[in-house]
Amino acid sequence: MDMQTSFLDRLFEKGLLIDTGVDGLYGRSGQFEDVITAFERLIDRTGGIDGAEAIRFPPGINRAHFEKSGYMKSFPQLAGTVHSFCGCELDHINLLKCMDEGDDWTKEQKATDIVLTPAACYPLYPTIAKRGNLPKDGGLYDIQSYCFRHEPSKDPARQQLFRMREYVRMGTEKDVTDFRQTWMDRGVKMMETVGLDVEIDVANDPFFGRAGKMLANNQRDQNLKFELLIPVTSAANKTACMSFNYHQDAFGTKWGLNLDNGQVAHTACVGFGLERIALALFAKHGLDVQEWPATVRETLWG
Ligand code: 5GP
Ligand code: ZN
Repeated sequence: MDMQTSFLDRLFEKGLLIDTGVDGLYGRSGQFEDVITAFERLIDRTGGIDGAEAIRFPPGINRAHFEKSGYMKSFPQLAGTVHSFCGCELDHINLLKCMDEGDDWTKEQKATDIVLTPAACYPLYPTIAKRGNLPKDGGLYDIQSYCFRHEPSKDPARQQLFRMREYVRMGTEKDVTDFRQTWMDRGVKMMETVGLDVEIDVANDPFFGRAGKMLANNQRDQNLKFELLIPVTSAANKTACMSFNYHQDAFGTKWGLNLDNGQVAHTACVGFGLERIALALFAKHGLDVQEWPATVRETLWG
């Protein structure tokens, strides 16, 4: 059995994660959630002084915004659309018959106006653009959402529905690159205070297909994405528990995000993978939270 499957089995046995029969779709115990809540308090304590505007969206995005985002060009393999039954009574009878006979009953499901959120910051850009020009110092937002990515796996650190906490900065190139550097430094310190071994490395997103290879190379060459890596199921293949993304003026141009002087805004976001951070803590300190080092417990629970 590989390390990922055995860690997943141990998490199930301990009841920290709850098997639903679908790889990457898990319930979480109160204890697991308590670790996430405590870590989010650490994020609040670290980022709170910046005075970000907190906004929470449900884990679905307006389909028109999703289409405009270009996500289907880059990551069609990861997207999840919400479909519903929209038929008449006769269609309903046919649907039930199909289900009874074990046939594919989903063929007639129709796309709704909602798509599952692929990254927590996606609904933010059109929302802020609608307000008009940014304030004088740009914008800073605190976001958290469940996100969906269709990538079933036995690796507990690769889930299909997971939470991402993000800070998003909109402003000048200097504003947003300074913000990103600040969070890279803060991220390393935060992980060290909870006893995790970290490393920051340049990264790229899993863009789809042959054309995607070029996008990935470009992202790497221009240092647009960094990840904070922590050993979870393997010391050799570390897991990205935070990412630091500089979008240049791509989202500003796409969504019409402008500075107070009318120039196109640059944007950057930093994301914490909350389940991954909790899993990194369990992998490092053991599955019994009472046994974690006192300094780590003190940082998380005071
Ligand atoms: P990104 O948008 O950079 O791919 O993801 C942002 C953060 O979300 C990552 O650094 C990671 O911590 C978390 N994340 C990405 N994919 C997954 C996943 O499949 N499962 C889980 N649990 N977290 C993920
Ligand atoms: Zn983001």
